[in-house]
Order: sequence, then structure tokens, then C-alpha cells
Amino acid sequence: MKFGGTSVADCAAITRTIGIVNGKLQERPIVVVSALSKVTDLLYRISDQARLRDKEGAGELLGRLRTRHAELAEELIPDNPEILADALSRVNAICDRLEHFVDAVCALGELSDRSKAIIIGNGEYLSSNIICCAMNARGIRTRLMDSRKMIITDNNFLKGEPQTDEIIKRVREEVSAAYTGDMDAVITQGFVSATVEGEPTVLGRGGSDYTASLIGMSVDAKTIEIWTDVDGVKTADPRKVENTISLDRISFEEAAEMAHFGAKVLHPMTIEPAVKKNIPIYVLNSMNPSGKGTAILQSSFIDDGVKSVSSKSNILVINIFSTKMINVAGFLMHVFEIFSRNNVSVDLISTSEATISVTVDAGSQNIDKVVEELSSFAEVYVDSNKAQVSVIGKNLDNVNGILEKTFAPLKDHKIYMISQGASYVNISFVVDRAVMDDVVALLHRNIFG
Ligand code: ASP
Ligand code: MG
Repeated sequence: MKFGGTSVADCAAITRTIGIVNGKLQERPIVVVSALSKVTDLLYRISDQARLRDKEGAGELLGRLRTRHAELAEELIPDNPEILADALSRVNAICDRLEHFVDAVCALGELSDRSKAIIIGNGEYLSSNIICCAMNARGIRTRLMDSRKMIITDNNFLKGEPQTDEIIKRVREEVSAAYTGDMDAVITQGFVSATVEGEPTVLGRGGSDYTASLIGMSVDAKTIEIWTDVDGVKTADPRKVENTISLDRISFEEAAEMAHFGAKVLHPMTIEPAVKKNIPIYVLNSMNPSGKGTAILQSSFIDDGVKSVSSKSNILVINIFSTKMINVAGFLMHVFEIFSRNNVSVDLISTSEATISVTVDAGSQNIDKVVEELSSFAEVYVDSNKAQVSVIGKNLDNVNGILEKTFAPLKDHKIYMISQGASYVNISFVVDRAVMDDVVALLHRNIFG
């Protein structure tokens, strides 16, 4: 059971969350928590200020961090002085250690990725310690586990690549050591991880979902529950589109495409570990625990048809022109070898005789290097004013008139790249960023009525 930042934002939210866990004790839950809402952002700011040697600015934010957590502990544990004292001493110990560390970074004025991973992971340690104490104060016997002993990654400190075999082994060891017969539940941190040598890493923004599915996979969980603040997965982003519909069930493939192509409900990598063991994922609303949420299941349980219209604005279109490409075998290989060697992953591709256009996530590292290498044999033009829109569903080739439904309403809009995957899960195209939201709303209206 994973609870995101808004599900652990304050005393009321945590009380609700503990109530949800309490109702599931007979299923032997493993609880994974994010940092309190906005705390990871605050830690990023602290790390920036430390890098700029702004000790006073960092100190002010560190003070806020300590106060927020200490006050929360007091509010959550009003009538058990012993457990409250324990919670406060844990909060203070974490904050003291962090302050010393930030002081050292300020003194050096240098922030490595490793140091940054140490700083930004503290939110999960604070929340998990407080919630563990609050559960014990309510008579739910709960033991805290350290994710950094279980979630093992490579040494990409800010976006660690999980090492599956090691994770499975470690999670099983840690869970069986912690989940002794006298325990009702165990709890651990999302997002944080470590290398096999014990160097701290993190899984990247929003990574707590991924932690939960890695743990679920490792223990062969019956289900993986992702508790958030919306009623499951919807047909489009409800903040941007009117009349969105909640989806009862979608397939692993559809969920993976949605997460990858812009729906903000799940970390894009969350699906993969669940698929390995065919474990259903439920996306549920901690503010409305009796709601059905969305079940993410094997494809055979899912009907054909369109499930979502998603969009992604944070992309770059890279256009590669070369006359050398005409009638030359192996040109594509040469181009994509450059992307692959620089670890830049490509989303959409379209080609003509002398052009290749691709889209990549604008946040990818090494894009400059890719462009530089491509420029040695082709003309390269990077366009940062575009966005990607995707119509996602199952067996879209069986859906009558789907291409017409998608493109007819867009007759007045310029469309730059179109791609339809062979698996018929996804029809994606590129539009001007300025019209992205309008296009999504238009399509949603046309497809879902
Ligand atoms: N706290 C981390 C973040 O804000 C991880 C998560 O919430 O999933 O990115
Ligand atoms: Mg999240």
C-alpha cells in the first residue's frame, strides 16, 4: 500500500491513511510512504541554496522543515507522551544530521549528485518515522524498515536504475526479519534507494510508486495499491478537461502508455515490476476510500476501445535532415546508435526519404551531445515549441472510425508527426504547444461525448 504526499500531508490526511491501513491488517500490509506534500520540493530548494553557499536561506528552510514535522508529530500523538517523545527525537535526529550535512555543502559550495540524493531523500525518512510512531500510538504494532537496505540501484544517484535480482533478495530478507509474528504492519520509505555498496540514491521524482511495485513484485504481493488524491485513472486530466470519466479497469499496457505519455497518475516505471508477476495494481483515493478506483490488470480482462486522451508538453522535436540518407541502408541505425549511446530515449519517430523526426523528453540528459554528434553528418533542428497528444486504448485497430474520430476534429490544426504503434495501444501526434490543451479537450469531447 503506497500513500503519496497528499495522503500524508497533515494530521487529518495521515489519520485517514492510518484508518485505511487498519482496515487491511489481516492482509499483512507493507506500507510505503512519500514525503509530506511539498516537502521534497522544499528539500530541492535547500540543496540549491546550499550549492549557492546561502547558509542563511538554507537555514530558514531547514527550520521550517523541522517545525512542520515536530508540530505534526505533536498533533498526531496527543495522548502518548512516551511515543511522542520517541517520534520527536527521531525527527530531531534526522533534522540535526541534515543540517550538519547542509552546512558542509554550504562550506564547500559544491553539490554532487550523491550529496543531492542524500538531501532530497530526507522527506521520506521524516514521514515514515512519524507515521510509524503514530500507528504504534494507535495500537497498530508497526515496524519501520529502511528502503536503502532493499531498493538497490546502479550509481545514477538521482535516477537510480533498480537491480531487480538484488532487490528481490533483499526485500524478502528485510520483510521477513521485520514482519515477525507480533507485528501488525511494516512501513518503509518510497523514493529512496542505494547502490549495492550502500551509497544513497533516489529513484527520480514521483518514484514512491515505483518503490511500491518493486516491493510488491519481490514479495509476490496479492495486490499493489497506490493511494492518491483522485478517484483512480480518468479518461483525461480532470484539471484541464471537462466531463472526464473514471475508468474501472485498464490493462497494464494502457496504464504504461498513459503514464509514459503524460497522465500524471503513476510513475511511468510502476507497471513493469507488477507485470513481471502479474500483480493487479489498484489506484485509489485516500480522500474517498470507499470509491472503486481503477484496477490495472492483465489485458485479457480489458475491453477493446479508447481509454484516454493524454498529452505531454515537456518534449523536444529533433528534426534530422540529410541527403546522405537517400537510398542508403543503415542510416537509421547510425542515428539511433547516437541516441542509444547517450542514453536518450526516443518516444515518437517518423521518417521520410531525407528526414527523420523524433520526439524526446525535454528533461533527458545528454541531448546536447546527441545534437552535436548528429550535426557532424546531418542538419539538425531542435524544436521546443511542440507538444505530444496521445489517444490510448486497447486494440485501437478494431475501433470503428478511430482515425476519423481523432483527426477529423483537428482539420483546422497543424499536425506535425503521426505515429501509431504496431500494438494498436497508442495513436500519437505532435501539435503546437500553444494549442495542446484545446486539442485534448476537443478530442475528448469527440471520442467520449
Ligand atoms: N517525494 C518524492 C517526490 O515528490 C517521491 C514521491 O512522492 O513519489 O518526487
Ligand atoms: Mg506521485
